[in-house]
Amino acid sequence: KTSESSKLIEQTEKYGARNYNPLPIVVSEAEGVWIHDPEGNRYMDMLSAYSAVNQGHRHPRIIQALKDQADRVTLTSRAFHNDQLGPWYEKICQITGKEKALPMNTGAEAVETAFKAARRWAYDVKGVEAGKAEVIACTGNFHGRTMLAVSLSSEEEYKRGFGPMLPGIKLIPFGDIKALEEAITPNTAAFLFEPIQGEAGINIPPDGFMKEAYELCKKNNVLYIADEIQVGLGRTGKMFACEWENVVPDIYILGKALGGGVFPISCIAANHDILDVFNPGSHGSTFGGNPLACAVSCEALDVIVDERLADRSLQLGDYFREELGKIVNPIIKEVRGKGLFIGMELHGEARPYCERLQKEGLLCKETHDTVIRFAPPLIISKEDLDWAIDKIKHVFSS
Ligand code: PLP
Repeated sequence: KTSESSKLIEQTEKYGARNYNPLPIVVSEAEGVWIHDPEGNRYMDMLSAYSAVNQGHRHPRIIQALKDQADRVTLTSRAFHNDQLGPWYEKICQITGKEKALPMNTGAEAVETAFKAARRWAYDVKGVEAGKAEVIACTGNFHGRTMLAVSLSSEEEYKRGFGPMLPGIKLIPFGDIKALEEAITPNTAAFLFEPIQGEAGINIPPDGFMKEAYELCKKNNVLYIADEIQVGLGRTGKMFACEWENVVPDIYILGKALGGGVFPISCIAANHDILDVFNPGSHGSTFGGNPLACAVSCEALDVIVDERLADRSLQLGDYFREELGKIVNPIIKEVRGKGLFIGMELHGEARPYCERLQKEGLLCKETHDTVIRFAPPLIISKEDLDWAIDKIKHVFSS
């Protein structure tokens, strides 16, 4: 059959670089938790664009903010001030409790920004000898696809053929506090990590790790940088995943849902003593802090707060995990997660199950071969979640 979808997929594969392997679904419309293909089939989105659409597809308030701002001004560059950036700064500082923020566009760029801040802080504030600063990260991490991000990665396939990698990086096993202690030297600028690892398969560190790591960092004058790009902004049932252990990182890295799934925006938030290492000319981005992104982001953040999406995630997530835990099938190794950020680890390949779930109208993406990630938009209703649970139970009982 040459449906509209097959034609579009053929075109995409013919002209596009093959750096992705998507499920054979073409999305042509979406609203809330539901997405549609050109043939009129309806699917539930269980991925939320890797947590970028926590507020649901095309949230009416966010779309309105986009339209209103598009009618006024969209881009100024940072050569001039714009009337949306100040209000956005203030909102980010309120939500994070930090004194300052620095906007960029994509998650990877925000990671770059945090890394540059940490290195310069090490030289200018901590007094590390020029060229000697080190950053510690964790195996299994995912911080994006730029050269810094792949230099941080422990995945051979993310790095192959892209070398030489950036120096000054040390890796410790995720969640290993002893290894962190041993890795810290007088030259350590920062410990950069995901409070819960997303792309590695929804990996939760051992209880106490976040807190103990924080204390080690404080003791050694090392910056504690939390990449909350995927797990922040309500996804795990808290505004920030670090709240699971009542830790406030020195630097928050945010992205994805910061733009409400509508417009890319990312940032780092930190106090003066760190962000003041940047002076005019030391860092920037043409689109960073543009008024369209700021207007969208302000509304995206208000929606998270007004609709109590973190609480929804917590409650519905507990329920969802409990229901998944009732499924009896020897292929299931473990169901884990926090809030609506759930991984179901199998004793075999996850992809065939994702394909069967797709036939049932549920779009999930496997991560790291054996884990199915269930992460619907946080606005999901109990009824829609029950619909999804029925489908999952059906697939795993047949
Ligand atoms: N950091 C984490 C934890 C992520 O999950 C991602 C994306 O999946 C990134 C960074 C990179 O963000 P972006 O794809 O917007 O560059």
